[in-house]
Amino acid sequence: MTDIELANLIFPNITKTVDDLEKRYPPRNLPEGAEVTRFAPSPTGFLHTGSLFTSMICHKVAKQSKGVFYVRLEDTDTKREIQGSGKQLIEQLNIFNVVPDEGYYGDHQEGDYGPYIQSERSEIYNIVIKYLISIGRAYPCFCKAEDLDFIRSKQEQAKLIPGYYGQFAKCRFLTNEERAERIKNGEPYVIRFKSAGNHVRKIRVKDLVRGEFEIAQNDQDIVIYKSDGLPTYHFAHCVDDHFMRTTTVIRGEEWIASLPIHVELFDAMGWKAPNYAHLPVIMKLDEQGHKRKLSKRLDNEAAVSYFLKDGLPTEALIMYLMTIANSNFEEWILQNKFEHMEEFKFSFNKMSLEGALFDIGKLTFFSREILAKKDKETFFNMAYEYAKEYDESLLKLIESDPDYFKAI
Ligand code: GLU
Repeated sequence: MTDIELANLIFPNITKTVDDLEKRYPPRNLPEGAEVTRFAPSPTGFLHTGSLFTSMICHKVAKQSKGVFYVRLEDTDTKREIQGSGKQLIEQLNIFNVVPDEGYYGDHQEGDYGPYIQSERSEIYNIVIKYLISIGRAYPCFCKAEDLDFIRSKQEQAKLIPGYYGQFAKCRFLTNEERAERIKNGEPYVIRFKSAGNHVRKIRVKDLVRGEFEIAQNDQDIVIYKSDGLPTYHFAHCVDDHFMRTTTVIRGEEWIASLPIHVELFDAMGWKAPNYAHLPVIMKLDEQGHKRKLSKRLDNEAAVSYFLKDGLPTEALIMYLMTIANSNFEEWILQNKFEHMEEFKFSFNKMSLEGALFDIGKLTFFSREILAKKDKETFFNMAYEYAKEYDESLLKLIESDPDYFKAI
């Protein structure tokens, strides 16, 4: 049985090809140097301050280069999904003026490169997976949790790198006839990418924040298609950022370790990988004076909603986050009297590699400066809107004598 026959057996209803997708999603017609960026949240909870930081930079990079900023909802991890959180994330982004040019808008989608919700893109992923199977770069894997546990314990005993690779990748060695037989018998399976790499070899990668560096090649046969029929993050990232024609992937530095997987997937497809910028995480000093990551679990200020409830002007948080993003911004904004932020030129070179410390004192100073510059009517409207949403007793006071409130 050939690989093509196996691919047809697994995906009998997929008749379109990767070429059809290339035509359906052509390169974007944008001016030279325009960057296409995306914010790709998973609908798993509230808008994290770190996510606002990332999306603000994505938005800025697209705007200043006359490119496109879009939002894609990454909802393939159905177990972690929190109903309604996708829409809420977008609403909160809007409050901070981080508004996409296309993509997922919470209650609808807009743009020529959609669908922008991953769970609606199954056909696209399946077309690519079918192609990878047909060229011998992907295969069905029937290993159960016990098989994987057994492999792991053998690797632990032998002090080897854990994972599904090389000789441990059991299902790599099945014949296509065996695979077909087991599929016909209804055995559950996932699909794995067949890596051609070796972790003792190094590859050179380039990151817009940290420059060029070496990292071990990927050799893991990662799962690309789960038993629920949905893709994994690694695979969906490559397919989506290719066909949505992203030029610059801006994401948290926790993804650096997976970069070799992504590089190999792009290579296997013969696609040019996008530029990558991995952003440092935001840190905070704990009670003992140690630096640690801002934590969703431990820190109020990890959730953007905390600042909204506190009545902080949204521009203050955005400006403050830009001081973390670019070391020259603070001086610039002070000189510009907290105005015309859109004219500031963001640059990846001016980003510090160490995670910046969240400084609530500086944020409060920014808020004060910004509020002090508002005229009476604007300040009144801001306070009134805030009170309506968050503070009933303040609302009563304002409504009982609006003119007195304005006079104060
Ligand atoms: N859905 C991923 C996350 O929320 C996106 C990472 C990326 O930007 O590629 O972490």
